[in-house]
Amino acid sequence: MKSMKEYFDSAEKKYMFVSKKVPVVMEKGKGSYLWDVDGNKYLDFIAGWAVTLLGHSHPAITKALITQGKRLINASPAFYNRPQVEFTELLLAKTCMDRVFFVSTGAEANEGAVKLARKYGALHKNGAYEVITAKDSFHGRTLAMMAATGKDHWKKLFEPVMQGFVHVPYNDIDAVRNAITDKTIAVMIEPVQGEAGVIPASKEYVEGLRKLCDEKGLLLIFDEVQTGYCRTGSLFAYEQYGIEPDIMSLAKGIGGGFPLGALLAKEKFCVFEAGDQGGTYTGQPLAMAVGIAILNEIIKKDLCGHVREMGDYLMGRLKELETKRLVKNVRGKGLLVAFDTVKKQGADVVSEAMKKGLLLNSPRPVSIRLMPPLTIKKKEIDEMIRIVESVL
Ligand code: PLP
Repeated sequence: MKSMKEYFDSAEKKYMFVSKKVPVVMEKGKGSYLWDVDGNKYLDFIAGWAVTLLGHSHPAITKALITQGKRLINASPAFYNRPQVEFTELLLAKTCMDRVFFVSTGAEANEGAVKLARKYGALHKNGAYEVITAKDSFHGRTLAMMAATGKDHWKKLFEPVMQGFVHVPYNDIDAVRNAITDKTIAVMIEPVQGEAGVIPASKEYVEGLRKLCDEKGLLLIFDEVQTGYCRTGSLFAYEQYGIEPDIMSLAKGIGGGFPLGALLAKEKFCVFEAGDQGGTYTGQPLAMAVGIAILNEIIKKDLCGHVREMGDYLMGRLKELETKRLVKNVRGKGLLVAFDTVKKQGADVVSEAMKKGLLLNSPRPVSIRLMPPLTIKKKEIDEMIRIVESVL
């Protein structure tokens, strides 16, 4: 066994650099906790970036992997397989959508959404192809999704940047209306902007988008990669707005830590022809078995109800810190919550909290985002508050 420093130094030399990492190498997880290779324990309020919704190494997921692994690990995308058909039926019954295509990541699901919209534009809207997205949005890291994403400093990366995306301010319906041209085919938003620092869309904005898209014959695409699967207190965030999108992308929670994503659409917009879309791992049996296990668990345990209860409790505890003027701008929905720091930089809060055994994320210089496992308990929220308070 190597020491943590040896593991870390080895990775730093050999693993391709993409971002600066904290010098910790993780070894195992259980429930809301992770342990590093030296045996240090961490309360996990990152959850793999809003991914491990049932907590780490949940027995339902482990069992699904072992059972399916013994039966069939991979058939071929040329055939359907049994868990794929079963998961398709189970998932669609819970959404407003008519068809699904399974992928492995959120970026891939969003790519599929944009391809579907462009294909619809080519067939039914005089070749319209432009997609309006929001400033500060995040849709993934493929070349097209980097172009779709509304980060200013990505606009010059990896040129030539893919054409066909227009960015307008979030929560501003007039900005969307003014950006529509003959070339526009769709509007794509996150119902709660995650990477931007947890900014929920207002009800008027989403209702306005639905109305505008209907008037102009545009597709409304919801990127629910982060908000889907009870994260905001309902199975999908769109339910809280009383509207239905035309296309929806899912990832993160749908696989609970196993690589799985989904592109879902209403029948009218399912216009792919043979060869337009595909992938070696679409409907991969292990992923499908995990998907079934997670969705059944969510339903059986009423996880969305638990999220609403814990979300209210978490908000209440953060408001106490706000009253003490330790934090400000507490915001969010369900268990996707953020606050701004008053005196310290977010990065300093993250590193000091880590030394005290708490994992936090700082998506913006003074913002801390909380996205714990959805199975989080009150006493774990109290433990997090205690550490945050001591750090602040
Ligand atoms: N869309 C949203 C809203 C996200 O938050 C993310 C990832 O954080 C993505 C898309 C990209 O997902 P992935 O990293 O699985 O490609």
